[in-house]
Amino acid sequence: MHNRDTGGRNGDVSFWWRAGGGFPARRPSLPEPAEADVCVVGAGFTGLWTAYYLKRADPSLRIIVLEAAFAGFGASGRNGGWLTAALPGSRERYARGPGGRAAVLDLERQLRATVDEVAAVCAAEGIDADLVKGGELAVATTPAQHERLREELAAHRRWGLGEDEVGYLGPAELAGRVRIPGGAGALYLPQCARIQPAKLVTGLAGAVERSGVQIYEATPVTRIVPGRGLDGPDPAPARACTVFGDVTAGYVLRATEGFTARLPGRRRDLLPMNSSMIVTEPLGDDVWEQIGWSGCETIGDSAHVYMYAQRTADGRIAIGGRGVPYRFGSALDDRGTTQPQTVAILRRVLSRLFPAAASARIDHAWCGVLGVPRDWCATVTLAPSSGLGWAGGYTGHGVAASNLAGRTLADLVLGADTPRTSLPWVGHRSRRWEPEPLRWAGVHGLYAMYRAADRAEDRGSPRTSPLARIGDRISGRAV
Ligand SMILES: Cc1cc2nc3c(=O)[nH]c(=O)nc-3n(C[C@H](O)[C@H](O)[C@H](O)COP(=O)(O)OP(=O)(O)OC[C@H]3O[C@@H](n4cnc5c(N)ncnc54)[C@H](O)[C@@H]3O)c2cc1C
Repeated sequence: MHNRDTGGRNGDVSFWWRAGGGFPARRPSLPEPAEADVCVVGAGFTGLWTAYYLKRADPSLRIIVLEAAFAGFGASGRNGGWLTAALPGSRERYARGPGGRAAVLDLERQLRATVDEVAAVCAAEGIDADLVKGGELAVATTPAQHERLREELAAHRRWGLGEDEVGYLGPAELAGRVRIPGGAGALYLPQCARIQPAKLVTGLAGAVERSGVQIYEATPVTRIVPGRGLDGPDPAPARACTVFGDVTAGYVLRATEGFTARLPGRRRDLLPMNSSMIVTEPLGDDVWEQIGWSGCETIGDSAHVYMYAQRTADGRIAIGGRGVPYRFGSALDDRGTTQPQTVAILRRVLSRLFPAAASARIDHAWCGVLGVPRDWCATVTLAPSSGLGWAGGYTGHGVAASNLAGRTLADLVLGADTPRTSLPWVGHRSRRWEPEPLRWAGVHGLYAMYRAADRAEDRGSPRTSPLARIGDRISGRAV
């Protein structure tokens, strides 16, 4: 590991909390058993957006949010800050649903509009989330990556997306925005904004609370018990059980994403995939002159084990990637502490893509988990007969998607028929993950293949490595 990487912090949830002036004051735990119309489990973006839109639609609703740690403790307060319209899942797979291709395009359209919706709520609620809508750059730095970009662009065009939705930048145009060694070209997607995740989730939690929703922190839900049909002979509400007592509610909505495996009976629903980040010290003007990047686009490469980056409001580079992908038995990290070898990998990526920042100090490293369903497609669902619902499985594209999912879950609770309730992720079902040790071996084997494919491509191989294609097929990512 680079010597200068050891002095920075590792863990402490994420850098974003430190950058935002420290952790906010904690809210109290659930004081006693309670009743509500709706109980939301988990105060990340999904849970908070759901509560936000429900309360706006019907201010008389009694809504309780139960959070195991604090609002934003999970991926919502640790992510790369890409407010991206990227589809969480495969077009082809969603298109197998009853709405077919048109419904997939509708989902994509609504995801693009969601970027502006989040910006509008930030403006309306006075949330300063360092939001800059600079678009998204998917950069190719090897011939094989470039070939994949071309294939991706062709796929976008086949699905009817035009220049306004996704454009191609040649090397000179790319260098006009950001100078990346070997930058052979890029896709540019304008519907993406950079945000500071902790500021967004904290501001949102404040707005939710101001609207009259009760948020209880340090209140882990140990069990969720389904209710019985309220129109049946022996009705009973659903329950979220905690050590402080139960919350009984007409609806209990699970928004626990990468933490879901901890709940009884849910161990194999969503795989807690690990993602790690590092952030540099603030970089000097001389460094920024060499790099460019004045538009604050979010930047990712097109490797199989890809990286994602943002230029922060205070002039740092925050860069993330996979590192160690998964912990045996769906285990979780300890408050965001990531492995030293992951920090070293990310440092090498930083130096390769932004050599002007190669000697910069790394001020903080951290990790978090995202929820990955077995078919890599997200779900929003509600069963009125049991009063249980959930949303998630965004496979690392949840910052914007959680807003649309939250609005949709709110519609489903309210029984409203809206353009959202027929989207293809509504009621989507994915099969469960394999039991251990198969799950661990599968994920680690997959990433070993992806890393080998990236190494082959870095050596100049002009085509996507067959190893990666096999990996996509085994993992269920390829349709
Ligand atoms: C390092 C990293 C980088 C990422 N980068 C991006 C990005 O740039 N763009 C993007 O779109 N997506 C990104 N993602 C994914 C994105 O952050 C998530 O999809 C999104 O935040 C999910 O929000 P959520 O509310 O569903 O889950 P979370 O934010 O994980 O929230 C779940 C909450 O539920 C709580 N909880 C769990 N179990 C219980 C329980 N039993 N009782 C009570 N509470 C419970 C947790 O404490 C947590 O606060 C990234 C993820 C990570 C980890």
